[in-house]
Amino acid sequence: MTINGGISFWYATDHTATAPPRAPLTSDATADVVIVGGGYTGLWTAYYLKSSAPDLRVTVLEQKFCGYGASGRNGGWLYNGIAGRDRYAALHGHQAALRLQQAMNETVGEVIGVAAKEDIQADIHHGGVLEVARTPAQLTRLRAFHEGELSFGETDRVLHDATDTRALIDVADAVGSSWSPHGARIHPLKLVTGLAAACERLGVVIHESTPVTEIDPGRARTPYGTVRAPYVLRCTEGFTAALKGHKRSWLPMNSSMIVTAPLAPSTWESLNWSDAALLGDMAHAYMYAQRTADDRIAIGGRGVPYRYGSRTDNDGTTQERTIASLTALLTSFFPVLTGVEVTHAWSGVLGVPRDWCATVTLDRTTGLGWAGGYVGSGVATANLAGRTLRDLVLGASTDLTALPWVNHRVRRWEPEPFRWLGVQALYAAYREADRRETTTHTPATTPLARLADRISGRH
Ligand SMILES: Cc1cc2nc3c(=O)[nH]c(=O)nc-3n(C[C@H](O)[C@H](O)[C@H](O)COP(=O)(O)OP(=O)(O)OC[C@H]3O[C@@H](n4cnc5c(N)ncnc54)[C@H](O)[C@@H]3O)c2cc1C
Repeated sequence: MTINGGISFWYATDHTATAPPRAPLTSDATADVVIVGGGYTGLWTAYYLKSSAPDLRVTVLEQKFCGYGASGRNGGWLYNGIAGRDRYAALHGHQAALRLQQAMNETVGEVIGVAAKEDIQADIHHGGVLEVARTPAQLTRLRAFHEGELSFGETDRVLHDATDTRALIDVADAVGSSWSPHGARIHPLKLVTGLAAACERLGVVIHESTPVTEIDPGRARTPYGTVRAPYVLRCTEGFTAALKGHKRSWLPMNSSMIVTAPLAPSTWESLNWSDAALLGDMAHAYMYAQRTADDRIAIGGRGVPYRYGSRTDNDGTTQERTIASLTALLTSFFPVLTGVEVTHAWSGVLGVPRDWCATVTLDRTTGLGWAGGYVGSGVATANLAGRTLRDLVLGASTDLTALPWVNHRVRRWEPEPFRWLGVQALYAAYREADRRETTTHTPATTPLARLADRISGRH
């Protein structure tokens, strides 16, 4: 039987996550910086602020518990992808986007380094990322993607043919792959809970079970009191739409995952999946997977993309049809796993801005700041955002504050029902494009997908 929901498999099976929650806010308070949201973005920001300026009073307000959001539910891809890089290249030039990419490359090592320094045991394994193509059209995209990454300085990336790919991970129908060393497998929840503990050791005040109902310049209101601070940082990513005035800022996009029971050593041998590389593909409705530290496969994909009215899931419960489609995807990648036990399924939300570009912003006149819109590539990006927010708050002009994603503004999403109709149509087009590319074996990307990309503003 598959356990559906319960926040995530990571939460359900990590005993430290069931520790009693931290105390909520009980009265009005003051701080120098108040951070709304106890995920990677909020906690990395708190961590770096307090590390750089120990006298700063930093308070984090979290509606449930640290790691309740995507940071405690994700696929554990700590990798160097950042949403919007190509658009930033178009807006600010190739060199500016190259600096952003280099900063992301360094971020993977930064997270691994801090985890080691703070003794955060997050099952980190630095095995790189293998992105596979399984159709001729995917192979064409893979080659273009590979060349594109080389042009952004990833000269250590390796292109593999079908035979070499299957020797690395035996994915059915693989026709090629691109491997990058800039990726590491993590246990997402262990990283976020370890980070919260590291913040507290530095003196950050964290209040859990404390929902912020409204953010204004100089204050964050909650049902239990208001925290006043010159800087108020919104780090709520996929939950942002629930905040007053933010219904159309970032769209809460669903991503869902399933995980198998631990697989036998002989199964792993037959899959050739020995180095725990992260695994992704080049489909339009792409998948992502990891070999967990306890020898399961955790695999995720879009499922039902969006809930009407920007609603979010109920503690991670996903749709039965999403579990079925992810299970089918798993066995299409690895037919030997047909009938395998799927122990857990869950979902979460990630934040998608109208132009699909991640941003980090501080408005000096109001003291309001925010970071997010990572569109599914937030594990490492949130760390870069945290260091950048630190520099912005401290008024330092640094290499990080000069990156092109800083202070980028974008228009809001359309009102309903257009928002819902648009996202449904977009993913219906991507699924149909994937189906056509699989059945026709055409080497070119289906025009339907290119049209969907153009209309959505995704590429
Ligand atoms: C299923 C899934 C798989 C993913 N896989 C990957 C992956 O493999 N690699 C990758 O790079 N990215 C992945 N992502 C995206 C990545 O997890 C996120 O981009 C990242 O965790 C965002 O961190 P965050 O701190 O900004 O937001 P979150 O982790 O969502 O944290 C926001 C926090 O704010 C709190 N909050 C919200 N509203 C309020 C309020 N009003 N008051 C107080 N607190 C509030 C929430 O409870 C939550 O704890 C995935 C996302 C999902 C959902």
